[in-house]
Amino acid sequence: MNRGQMLTAMKEDVDRLTQPFRHIEKTDTGANYIGHHLGLFDQFRLELTESTKNKEDNGPRKPAGSKPPMADKHLELMIFITKSIRDMALLTVGRTARYLEESLRDILTACLRSDERTVELCYKSVSEIRRRLEELLTWEIPPRKLNGQCPICTNKNTLLVYMDTYGPIYAICTHCHSRWDRDVLGILAGSLESENTEKNVD
Ligand SMILES: [Zn+2]
Repeated sequence: MNRGQMLTAMKEDVDRLTQPFRHIEKTDTGANYIGHHLGLFDQFRLELTESTKNKEDNGPRKPAGSKPPMADKHLELMIFITKSIRDMALLTVGRTARYLEESLRDILTACLRSDERTVELCYKSVSEIRRRLEELLTWEIPPRKLNGQCPICTNKNTLLVYMDTYGPIYAICTHCHSRWDRDVLGILAGSLESENTEKNVD
């Protein structure tokens, strides 16, 4: 990779880490779905906050795998990111101690005026941060089966809910292909709840 290519790739990585983005995903009916996501740093912060919070409250249990507890790998990655960015900031702009996003933007700008060796070091470092964050934030979370019957076609056990790292995105019925997006998921939840209540009364 030459200097220009490294700088272009690095800008892409910095954007992904620091800015919200859209991501085209497929539902299991094959339809495209545009997911809106926070920058990877914000996703990571959210996951750290959520995982700590879950230990304290007794709210509804999160589905297995979607919100792992604060683990060694989270701490290790946090330390890795902080150290990498501090090293790059010292090398390029000569100071540290700014917000991660600001630091990365400063580093990127400074790289435009830096020698090839510095650009290469920073490019590799930023690319590794992105790779490790994407790996940790597990982009592919398998959908979860919902108990109960579809309120539209009344088939049982045909409802799937798709999640991302910060909660349900949408639910679909694999039989009649009805779909509930984030803003109407509450209606589906209400319908499943009243179904359960009726069962208990019987
Ligand atoms: Zn259905």
